[in-house]
Amino acid sequence: MFKNLHELIAQMPDEKTCREWLAKQRWNGKPVCPHCGFEGKIYVIEGGKKYKCGSANCYKKFSVTVGTFLEGSNIPINKWLMAIYVCTAHKKGISSYQLGKDIGVTQKSAWFLLHRIRALMDERVEQPMKGIVEADETYMGRKYRSDYVGLSPEEIDYKLKTPQNKKGAVLGIVERSTGNVNVKAFSKIKRDELTDYVRSKVEEGSSLHTDESSLYRKLQYNGYGRETVTHSRKEFVKTSETGVRVHCNTVEAFWSVMKRGVHGIYHQISYKHLQQYCNEFSFRHNHRHLKDYEKFEIVFKGIVGRLPYKQLVAPKK
Ligand SMILES: [Zn+2]
Repeated sequence: MFKNLHELIAQMPDEKTCREWLAKQRWNGKPVCPHCGFEGKIYVIEGGKKYKCGSANCYKKFSVTVGTFLEGSNIPINKWLMAIYVCTAHKKGISSYQLGKDIGVTQKSAWFLLHRIRALMDERVEQPMKGIVEADETYMGRKYRSDYVGLSPEEIDYKLKTPQNKKGAVLGIVERSTGNVNVKAFSKIKRDELTDYVRSKVEEGSSLHTDESSLYRKLQYNGYGRETVTHSRKEFVKTSETGVRVHCNTVEAFWSVMKRGVHGIYHQISYKHLQQYCNEFSFRHNHRHLKDYEKFEIVFKGIVGRLPYKQLVAPKK
């Protein structure tokens, strides 16, 4: 494995070395037929470009990328790998324009690459959060007419004029002891949806630290503790009766990195892709202690999944 971008490029200068590397990662040197799962004799054909299944019932040809999200891609494998590396390593992300220039593909191809890589970063915190958990909402991601399908043109005009409807809502929850974050995009935050989401991520009995928002009231009276700071009165930190520091500063710090990334790098993001950007930023945040190549490995492991182009550009239902 390589330790930095330079080594990645040096180890995989061409398509052949990439394919060999990929085969080693995927099968550990012993190819398995993706069509029938045959693990016996597999023939190497076409000068190493393809394989042929040795099972008498199958005999199908396949390449190392079949069934992965690299299958059928016109973009060379080493450019994919470079893109994953850069996207996981840069703290605030990278724009499709910049990535395209860096690795020598069009902006459109780079945009597609980045969206597929973000889909691989959809790796939330598995363990339920506990102890002190900060929760906060913010607004980002621009909505378009297509986000309001089913409404009359007048209603859509009205919605797109009012600030709280123009953007998507994002809920962030942070476990104080680990600093890890879960981020969820909503079209509009409603109390029931927020309650369900927090319940799915935070253990009962935990203490929620929030601002004065009434959205958390249902949780407060049903299994969760709650401490608040009153942001509208410019109160940002206080000490509770039991001597605990009450604040939402950890989640606020996460918002500030994400917002600087979104405004500075991506400029304008659409609500349709908001969750994907949330995944990208929370992935990097939750793996902030790892080395760049370790983050690369995590994303790379998801490579067998695919996100077809049609699904990516389809309007959100
Ligand atoms: Zn087979």
